[in-house]
Amino acid sequence: MSIFEVGGKSAELEKKTLEVLKPRFEKIDETTRKNQRRLLEAYINNKVSAVHLGISTGYGYDDAGRDTIEKVFAEYAGAEDSLFRHNFMSGTHTLAVMLFGVLRPKDKMLILTGRPYDTLIDVLGLDKAVDGSLSDLGVEFEIVELDNNGMPDKKSIEEKLKGGNYRVAYIQRSRGYSLRHSLTAYEVGELCGLVKSVSPDTVTMVDNCYGEFVNDVEPTALGADIMAGSLIKNAGGGIASTGGYIAGKHVLVEKCAARLTAPGVGREIGATLGHNRELYMGLFAAPHTTGEAIKTALYASSFFSSLGYDVTPAPNEERGDIVQVIKLGTPEKLIAFCKGIQSGSPVDSFVSPEPSSMPGYDSEVIMAAGAFTLGSSIELSADAPLREPYAVYMQGGLNFDSAEAGIMLAAKSLEEKNLL
Ligand SMILES: *Cc1c(COP(=O)(O)O)cnc(C)c1O
Repeated sequence: MSIFEVGGKSAELEKKTLEVLKPRFEKIDETTRKNQRRLLEAYINNKVSAVHLGISTGYGYDDAGRDTIEKVFAEYAGAEDSLFRHNFMSGTHTLAVMLFGVLRPKDKMLILTGRPYDTLIDVLGLDKAVDGSLSDLGVEFEIVELDNNGMPDKKSIEEKLKGGNYRVAYIQRSRGYSLRHSLTAYEVGELCGLVKSVSPDTVTMVDNCYGEFVNDVEPTALGADIMAGSLIKNAGGGIASTGGYIAGKHVLVEKCAARLTAPGVGREIGATLGHNRELYMGLFAAPHTTGEAIKTALYASSFFSSLGYDVTPAPNEERGDIVQVIKLGTPEKLIAFCKGIQSGSPVDSFVSPEPSSMPGYDSEVIMAAGAFTLGSSIELSADAPLREPYAVYMQGGLNFDSAEAGIMLAAKSLEEKNLL
């Protein structure tokens, strides 16, 4: 018997779900097609060539491969400029470079989308004194909470902006580890428009993690001044083995380059050490890989909502990121789900994940991931903080066929314990 064989109820629902979702998958394919063409055009316009795939060492002066992919990504994103580098060590590091690059002591930042992603709390120094945080350097923060529907509270944002002199308005596009909505690129664009209409000199800054290639446009083409994300999520296409990007207005990107390396040398240095080829290939794969991840999320949403679970986004909801939340309701179900996902991974399928504490997170977390790149969440992965409402956050899937099989193993794992 194949390990993928599931019980009658699951098998029937699998078949039905795949059938029902056909027209929805076609719409996802349409976005992929548009994004892929626009990206290919950027490769062509910038004359990407075999020499760009080579290696630089030492200071990395005149690395044409590095400089050219930054032009390619900026063109795709509708931005003036970008940094697109393996030197960014994680999404949090990339966002920190963007924040420290743009903000100065005594500046005020208004956060438009409620409490930010867990790992940003210490970067900002929001909850407690953290040595070297932005608060430690004298930057001040105010948060506008989301409304009862989990959406940005435009009225309060407008009032705040009228009353204050904010250097930065910060928008987190993805839900992260929370039950809020994710924002489409268009919704982010609208928020940026609102900011500029009240306070034209305020920099609109976007945490675009998990949002790249999900819609047919990026926030920087719709009025965001600067945005950042990780290359072991959407924008690396499952191929980049590390890295991040910052894209936006040239003057702002230059400030970030001075922070990433050192003032004076800025973007001119940074040996690529052989990473160019995988960054070019990864970016090129990103529209397609992201499309596969969205199909995976939609499948899980549809399958588990048919079983009566509360899911967000709901199957018919528009998506702004690749994250799917399934409220499983009990710790036993969370653990069984994550063990099932792990058992269907191409790497480390035999490992059994257990809840544990994680730096940057304030409750125990269980993580299922059997990825080719450590911690990559564009590959099928599921994370769940062990707290109410015992919701699992799953995302990724390098290709739909393998990721769908993984989800069915999660269902099987629940079924075997009579928990489905
Ligand atoms: C993943 C993520 C981050 C942080 O990225 P890491 O690579 O985990 O450091 C920040 N914000 C959001 C919304 C994210 O999804």
